[in-house]
Amino acid sequence: MNVFEGGGHELELRNGATEVLVEVLMLAVTALAREDWDYAFAAELARQDQNLMGRGVVGLRLEDLDWGPDPERGRAFALAVVDLALTRHRWDELGYDPPYAEGYLRTFRLMVEATRPAPVPPADPTDIMAASCIRHRVLTPLAWYPACVLCGRG
Ligand SMILES: [Zn+2]
Repeated sequence: MNVFEGGGHELELRNGATEVLVEVLMLAVTALAREDWDYAFAAELARQDQNLMGRGVVGLRLEDLDWGPDPERGRAFALAVVDLALTRHRWDELGYDPPYAEGYLRTFRLMVEATRPAPVPPADPTDIMAASCIRHRVLTPLAWYPACVLCGRG
């Protein structure tokens, strides 16, 4: 099980469900990312990709996330990403119908809302960049990961 937690809420997801959550969030963050922190947040989401990190070893504590110099702006951005995903943004491109994704997103939204982020200095951005997978038009924000979360999916 992969555990996502924040603000007293928790989402325990099997690997397939984790992939679904990451994919719908990446489709949304790709549409909205503008500032450095947005790409860092996208990278954090991409890091949850099973094909990237190995199966069953991912998970995210929102309290531990680097919310950047303006955590409230970061939180507002994360909520906007979840809300865009909830509109089923580009879900027609997934190649499958994710029946539980809306529930995961609603829980994830509660976590983001309830998390009390502390301001931290900007992290070293060296492994983060703003590039997109040409085939899928999805952010590939990790310098060491040339593909996107949709590449290599069956
Ligand atoms: Zn791709």
